[in-house]
Amino acid sequence: MIYFIGAGPGAADLITVRGMKLLEKASLVVYAGSLVNPELLSYCPASCAVMNSASMTLEEVISALTERPTEETVVRLHTGDPSLYGAIREQMDALDRLGFAYEIVPGVSSMSAAAAVVRAEFTPPAVSQTVIVSRMAGRTAVPERESIRSLASHGASMVLFLSVGMLEKLCAELIAGGYTPDTPAAVVYKATWPDEEIVEGTLETLPEKAAHIKRTALVLVGGFLNAPFERSKLYDPAFTHMFREASK
Ligand code: SAH
Repeated sequence: MIYFIGAGPGAADLITVRGMKLLEKASLVVYAGSLVNPELLSYCPASCAVMNSASMTLEEVISALTERPTEETVVRLHTGDPSLYGAIREQMDALDRLGFAYEIVPGVSSMSAAAAVVRAEFTPPAVSQTVIVSRMAGRTAVPERESIRSLASHGASMVLFLSVGMLEKLCAELIAGGYTPDTPAAVVYKATWPDEEIVEGTLETLPEKAAHIKRTALVLVGGFLNAPFERSKLYDPAFTHMFREASK
């Protein structure tokens, strides 16, 4: 069986238990070498073959995944959670066409890791109940209706992948779209890796403060980064929900 597994954001113990157990019996692992922590490969048996997909084409990845007997455990190891910017769709489509079965094991996305390391909640009630996950257009195009400028008009909490290399333009677009220049913003580089770095500022100050960070980082934007205190209804004694009656 072929498994697509989310490796988590970096730290080797942030893969799921399910993902780790599958690595422990894998006969082949094809991992995204540019971002997956190689420490994770120590969960694999000594006999396991390991391939780094960084230098492989889609066709080469698919032929590697499909040439093993189907009773073996074959792992395609993706960074974070494979559903976000993982290029997993094209691999699943190819396996569907060839008639190979596969399963997906989710992972901890770098967006969750980034929120954890800056100790933030994306959805504090008084600030925003919406998270917009997007990216600047690069070699991969972004549909025009999803331009950063138009997404910014909502004033929601935002997480930008794959865009730190265009930080100045990104912040300018966010301001042009409606965020005030003093909106809190942060760059989180390699969340949960030993060389993790956090740079905090505003849309105005961040491009200069984080200019040395060129890749493997997320840009977080929004009032949630220094949210004013308002308690949530979920734990409010005056508020009843499915699992708890209001206290008298
Ligand atoms: N599927 C992955 C994202 C893959 S795209 C996930 O769920 O996290 C690769 C981009 O993700 C990087 O360019 C960077 O923007 C972000 N990224 C991946 N790991 C990261 C980490 N540990 N810290 C900060 N950003 C990270």
